[in-house]
Amino acid sequence: MLIVQKFGGTSLANPERIRNVAARVAKYRAQGSQVVVVVSAMSGVTDNLIKMAKELTPLPNEREMDVLLATGEQTTIALTAIALQSLDVPAVSLTGAQAGIVTDRVHTKAKIANITPRKVHALLDEGKVVIVAGFQGQTSEGQITTLGRGGSDLTAIALAAALKADLCQIYTDVDGVYTADPRVVPAARKLAEISYDEMLELAGLGAKVMQSRSVEFAKKFGVVFEVRSSLNDNPGTIVKEETRSMEDVVIRGVSLDKNQAKITMVGVPDRPGVAAHIFKAIADANINVDMIVQNVSHTPDAPATDLSFTVDKPDLLKATKVIDGLKSAVGFREALADEKIGKLSIVGVGMRSQPGVAAKMFETLALAGINIDMISTSEIKISVILDVTRAEQAMRAVHDAFLRTA
Ligand code: ASP
Ligand code: MG
Repeated sequence: MLIVQKFGGTSLANPERIRNVAARVAKYRAQGSQVVVVVSAMSGVTDNLIKMAKELTPLPNEREMDVLLATGEQTTIALTAIALQSLDVPAVSLTGAQAGIVTDRVHTKAKIANITPRKVHALLDEGKVVIVAGFQGQTSEGQITTLGRGGSDLTAIALAAALKADLCQIYTDVDGVYTADPRVVPAARKLAEISYDEMLELAGLGAKVMQSRSVEFAKKFGVVFEVRSSLNDNPGTIVKEETRSMEDVVIRGVSLDKNQAKITMVGVPDRPGVAAHIFKAIADANINVDMIVQNVSHTPDAPATDLSFTVDKPDLLKATKVIDGLKSAVGFREALADEKIGKLSIVGVGMRSQPGVAAKMFETLALAGINIDMISTSEIKISVILDVTRAEQAMRAVHDAFLRTA
């Protein structure tokens, strides 16, 4: 068996936890498996590096950010290898570049272009455990890149695909994927299985279990993986292609994303090409837009509309700069930024064949006296933007309405 095991930052938070990770890896190896370990930075390290850079300047150079952020994972590969060696397990650490991970040139959000895991295979054949730095790669010109926040998950899934691994385990500090974040919703339950699409919606919507790009990648290449805890031996949640019986459940989970910010452009001229102009500029700055809401205009003589959209909170400053730069070309009245929002979503493939789901969600929020700011839906998801100070209460109410057992 070839197993890829990924450990997140909380599983590596101190030498004692790293020793526990090493002991687990050693156990699998003793059973005769070849093991590739992918690690994140220690918890808090990446955030701290970003914070330090931002103390120097609000918009640090992105190439240098990658050089900086890649150090977090470089620390943990070495410590994990040292921990394994101290248990008499032959182990060797590799940076993303050394492991053959080649990316495009988009610093801080690079995409994997290809993986040539020749060195990984060679080291496995020598009987070594191979520890690979998550979250990083290099361009074909040899520049260090990172894969976006949470990118170690992507490293693990992509390596599992490239190595044709028999098993891919994503170890984290929770027992699996839950119907909601148990820290916010005490009644949340662990799911035995979930489809890629549901997981994608939940990850993308802020259930911080996994980076969504990694789930997309797994879906595309059919990598079945398990999300499980590094703190115990409980079975986790299997993530795989949708099966018939999965449709029997209307709502698989509820998620809350507090990492979005809203920009509202007031008095935007209502004529062809304006939205294209605005979102082209945002896209050119490599900013992902999530929800977009535009109203009908009410003034026939000088048609103008309000346009709201959400971006990832860390991109807000960049996005407001882009929008301010469009003021004379587009001719809107003003742009307002709001960071105090939460996005609450319900997700389930069963929603496709079940009417009344949106009505039930809105009714639940109404009963709790919570105002809805924006709404968006897809085939298997309904999301609302609301005041962040009411968001957790809203989440509990909605979970209770859809997922309460008995
Ligand atoms: N250390 C990186 C981050 O915090 C990558 C990861 O943890 O997956 O985003
Ligand atoms: Mg992570």
